[in-house]
Amino acid sequence: MAMDCKYCFVTGGVMSGIGKGVVTACIGKVLQFRGFKVSVVKIDPYLNIDPGTLNPTEHGECFITEDVWEFKPVFESDERSYRISEIDQDFGTYSRILGIEMHPSHNITSGQIYLSTILRERKGKFLGKTVQLIPHVTDIIKNRLFEISEKEELDVLLIECGGTVGDLESSIFLEAFRQIKLEYPKQTVFVHVTLVPYSKAVGQQKSKPTQHSVKMLQSLGLQPDIIIGRSEFPLAKDIKRKISLYSNVPERAVISNPDLEVVYELPILFEEQGLGDIICELIDLKAKLVSYSEVTNYSEWVKMVEMYKKANKIVRIGMPGKYFNISDSYISINEALEHAAAHQGYRPELKMINLAEDTDIEKELSDCDGILLTPGFGERAVEGMIRSAEYAMENKIPFLGICFGAQLFYVAFCRKYLGLKKANSTEIDPNTPYPVVDLLKSQEVITEKGGTMRLGAQKIIIQLNTKLFEAYKEKEIYERFRHRYHIKERFITEEAKQKGIIVSSRNETGDIVNSIELNRTDHWMVGTQFHPEFKSRPYNPSPIYMDFIKACIKSKD
Ligand code: GLN
Repeated sequence: MAMDCKYCFVTGGVMSGIGKGVVTACIGKVLQFRGFKVSVVKIDPYLNIDPGTLNPTEHGECFITEDVWEFKPVFESDERSYRISEIDQDFGTYSRILGIEMHPSHNITSGQIYLSTILRERKGKFLGKTVQLIPHVTDIIKNRLFEISEKEELDVLLIECGGTVGDLESSIFLEAFRQIKLEYPKQTVFVHVTLVPYSKAVGQQKSKPTQHSVKMLQSLGLQPDIIIGRSEFPLAKDIKRKISLYSNVPERAVISNPDLEVVYELPILFEEQGLGDIICELIDLKAKLVSYSEVTNYSEWVKMVEMYKKANKIVRIGMPGKYFNISDSYISINEALEHAAAHQGYRPELKMINLAEDTDIEKELSDCDGILLTPGFGERAVEGMIRSAEYAMENKIPFLGICFGAQLFYVAFCRKYLGLKKANSTEIDPNTPYPVVDLLKSQEVITEKGGTMRLGAQKIIIQLNTKLFEAYKEKEIYERFRHRYHIKERFITEEAKQKGIIVSSRNETGDIVNSIELNRTDHWMVGTQFHPEFKSRPYNPSPIYMDFIKACIKSKD
């Protein structure tokens, strides 16, 4: 029952990008340590239906879910629907920390809410009424949350609101939260995450920005129960006291969230400050007896964090790509590399190579132990990416190409070893004489953008005696996809096989190539059309990333 569930709302203050997603996931983690079934909803107040149409440099990477959701903005019976599997990158953080899979309906955008409101009005759902933000829009928001907690029988649903308090576009969501608090006062807890800057000039942490953002929250009718202060160093005692006094929050509920070497340590730090107990007191939760699981067990988590902290040998990975204006564009890849490396005692040093026309690619790659060729869309930087794959082949550098990276590895191979100088993907050159990468058949009829790519988890059939099989040790796996184009197998002739390229997996019907690799013993080079990084977890790294890092370590030594 929705009414049995507890709701933990997480808002942000002062500025965005202070790791509210990590905090939300870590609050979930301390609840998991106590045996509770939790899940997370992320609210994104922008008007896009989903983040799939956003440039990664605007909003970070798109996370891909296992399922594809048919979002019906009006009613279940209505014919209108939109496919959603591309969701906010915070879901990657939630999945990695909590070890749970979330349905795409957990990412609520203003676009979805307003579309539902307006289309329902046209269907006569509000006949006779003036349709208004309150109560019509807020009801739709509340129902989306209640549906999730009911369907999934959760103990606690965490709801993170994107942006910062005071943003015009998120205020309607905060209003919905206020109403839930009014209706279910004993089942809701409000956590406010703020920034506590350190002033070098006065040698002090400053509480003023937090005071202001709490005031803003209070003016919307919301009183935080807990404040989590993001800062360079742990919050000093006097600063906790000051924040407590001005924010009307008990001192023990002002929690430090300092810079950490290993982000997975944050739940432990929260636990040490009593955060789990405070939340349980506030919403009257009694810890459950739990069956043992390596994901939700506190001591196992501590052991894992120790492993990450000890992993300090360096393996340097070059990542040529084009979305480097912000650090989050390839976050799941960065994390997957870290997981795989840590499990082998290493820490990856990621060398992001932002390809421009004058980049000296050879020089940039010359000190790398491995190359990861990144996913992407469109023409910019493509020749540099192809050159990077060629460089890997010439110098036998371990190489993993992901999606676009795999397609461009194939282009590089065809140009270099098959003499097809103008080989290309039709995404880049629609008139290429050798369309070695071309539109998927299912995509030929599609004109609309947004949720129209080949998305979500798909079955993959792996060929024996391949590097892919060696990594997964299974003939059938599921991994997640997000693409329109694919590698055309008809160019893998006898001659091409002689030169060393093979298909290592396909889809069930055999008409889509899911991965390629070099069939050589002295060079590890693999390209996957799928994105294994989305399923990599800190305690369970992705098998293909594991073998890639293994090859990098070997070649380094
Ligand atoms: N642009 C390519 C395609 O659509 C690759 C996409 C990706 O890297 N995710 O197929």
